[in-house]
Amino acid sequence: MKEYNNTNIFAKIIRGEIPCNKVYEDKEALCFYDINPQAKIHVLLIPKGEYVSYDDFVDKADDKTIVSFFNKINLIIKKLKLETSGFRIISNTGINANQEVPHFHIHILGGENLGGINSK
Ligand code: 5GP
Repeated sequence: MKEYNNTNIFAKIIRGEIPCNKVYEDKEALCFYDINPQAKIHVLLIPKGEYVSYDDFVDKADDKTIVSFFNKINLIIKKLKLETSGFRIISNTGINANQEVPHFHIHILGGENLGGINSK
């Protein structure tokens, strides 16, 4: 079992201790622009619950929460008008993926040609 540490930067953003450039927020999730964008549009979608990573989220959250979260990816894609031009979603998990922030998040990138899988 992965142990969550609530001192990470995204926990602070959820608590309002650190500002973010918000795209969307509801009771369960928050979406904001990445501080170091890797594409013209680069946002992060995070659940407000305490999950370290993608696998931790799927292990611990109930089905309703999981489905609702993944539906929200689509909502953001539509809100940012990426559904026609295309987009990339990424969830870095653990050491080999160089996960920097230990709070589950999905990167949504788009707004330009993103190149091959290894270029972004
Ligand atoms: P990871 O490598 O964990 O998948 O990605 C973490 C992402 O969070 C990075 O793309 C990084 O730029 C972004 N990030 C780190 N700190 C902050 C912050 O304080 N605010 C925002 N908006 N993004 C951050």
